[in-house]
Amino acid sequence: MSDKELLVRKIKNGVVIDHIPAGKAFLVLHLLNLDPTAKALIAMNVDSGSLGTKDLMKIEGSYLTSKEIDLIGLVAPAATLNIIENWNVKEKRRIHLPDYIEGIFKCPNPLCPTNVEYTPIKTKFKVSSEGPVETINLQCTYCNSMLYYGTILEDVQEDKVKLDGGGGLVSIEKIEQVFLDILIKKGALRLPPNPEEPFILKSGRESPYFINIGALTDGESLAAVKWAFASFIRLLQEQGKLEEFDFIFGPSYKGISIAALACEGLTELYGMDIRYMYDRKEEKAYGDTSADRLIVGAGYFKQGQRILVVDDTMTTGTTKVEVVEKLKILGDHKIVGFIIAVDRQEKMGDIDNIEEYTAVQYLEQELGIKVFSIENITKIYNLIKDNLDEGIKKLWIDYYNRYGVEKLE
Ligand code: ZN
Repeated sequence: MSDKELLVRKIKNGVVIDHIPAGKAFLVLHLLNLDPTAKALIAMNVDSGSLGTKDLMKIEGSYLTSKEIDLIGLVAPAATLNIIENWNVKEKRRIHLPDYIEGIFKCPNPLCPTNVEYTPIKTKFKVSSEGPVETINLQCTYCNSMLYYGTILEDVQEDKVKLDGGGGLVSIEKIEQVFLDILIKKGALRLPPNPEEPFILKSGRESPYFINIGALTDGESLAAVKWAFASFIRLLQEQGKLEEFDFIFGPSYKGISIAALACEGLTELYGMDIRYMYDRKEEKAYGDTSADRLIVGAGYFKQGQRILVVDDTMTTGTTKVEVVEKLKILGDHKIVGFIIAVDRQEKMGDIDNIEEYTAVQYLEQELGIKVFSIENITKIYNLIKDNLDEGIKKLWIDYYNRYGVEKLE
């Protein structure tokens, strides 16, 4: 393969950042804070008709958040971003210097309210530029201190610039990893103490694991849930698997906070402004319109709008059918899909009655609603199986031989 072929080698899925000023690719690399396992190809000083020479970068299997795209503008304002799907350019984006940058740079003024020792507020800088990249400067909106281009570059080179949230680049693998890490770290994925004491589920089945989303109630967990759901939603849309929607609905109780977090994450990370709704378990006896009594936020719903439903897991299809029934009070609407945290991949029923479908399949085949899960049990099992002792491992295998749609090994 010649050098030229190597430089233009196509990627199947990912992003190409093109028209980076020559010699600046390493700055972009610092900004993006790439995962050490990320597959990236960087070409420097490539011939380019319009710019003389340019740098370019290809990152396989990843997607950039709008925050990351904005940041590229600080070192390479004329760069373009191509989103590649199935070997083709699906979308081209110009990089625009943002008006404000929040929570990324540190204010140089030690007396600034963003630098106090206890509960400092998030930094916010106004970006101004008179054209050339060297004229970019940032002004602190709290104390008016200035950050000039040289300091911005130094901060970037010294990796002082940190993205909050999940950080780095978004890919399905990264989302799965962030979510699984938090499940394990917070004890939300529980394993039995020994093979004789499996968890007894509501169905009576003796499960080799239990997922307690209630363990994810601290700030760190919520930040991870927010990042994972918002990024997963955005990624599904980028991949054309999930259509646009106007509302996120979270079924009470566990779906409510997930819906709220997902909306906030979509605004913060991806610049999308979506409302959320949730249902009351008991109908309010007084109040505005009939829909409002059952569904909080229904007052903003307009006929024909589209709804995405989010929830933690799905054990029985029937509880989700109740959601579908409940939403009918809104009138003309479309459910564009369900997103759940974990798909248990087991057939519905109880100990002896094993139905044909899993809850997810039931929803997809009976109601024609798409269901997407961040994690599924096969993936979780494959990641943890080498650390399970033989008795517990056998419990998993037996359980999925009996109730599962996928066999484990
Ligand atoms: Zn300041």
